[in-house]
Amino acid sequence: MSRTFQIPIPAEGQSPITFPNRCVSCGAPRQAESTLQINRLVQRGKQQVQVSAKYPVPHCERCARSTKAVFLAGCIPYVLGFLLVGGLAFIVITFGASLLGLDEYGQPNNANSLILGAAVGLVAGLVGGFIFELGARIVLLPVFGRALLQAPLLASQFVNDSDYVAGLKAKPDPKTTQIQLTFTNDEIASEFQALNAARLIPAGSGVR
Ligand SMILES: [Zn+2]
Repeated sequence: MSRTFQIPIPAEGQSPITFPNRCVSCGAPRQAESTLQINRLVQRGKQQVQVSAKYPVPHCERCARSTKAVFLAGCIPYVLGFLLVGGLAFIVITFGASLLGLDEYGQPNNANSLILGAAVGLVAGLVGGFIFELGARIVLLPVFGRALLQAPLLASQFVNDSDYVAGLKAKPDPKTTQIQLTFTNDEIASEFQALNAARLIPAGSGVR
């Protein structure tokens, strides 16, 4: 069973969030590190602020490798799908609209067809990436097994701004002052709880 904690994102200069000194996924001795990364633009008062946070997460060699492999297994088909489907839609729509005379409206030499093509291409690309990643996942499942099933799809990670490494999922709250950490390994979750007891925000305290 997985366990979830809510913890404030430490400001710069504050001591970072502490992870147990062994693999967060399987509990083996620490041999490597994987990085959880949060990047987000948030509105603070009148300003847009870029909030980025990086957390080095202890992994054993095997889980660190599997994190990279799972990421690539999602990323490569996603990018391919985005380029192929998005690119094709862009070309078809841009030329189609141009042939149909869309560029003859409004100012001379304007590029209505190009704008329409780019907009449709972007949407088609996002959908294409999602479909290709899903397809690759079905094909690769026998190779990767459980590690792949546990990882959220990239498309959903983009939507949530969440990040994932083997055994741990991170998702910032809408204001990006707190982060939600979900551990798949119960034992590691308990150790994490003990290490960060002073900082954890009790579940359901309604801090938003
Ligand atoms: Zn491990």
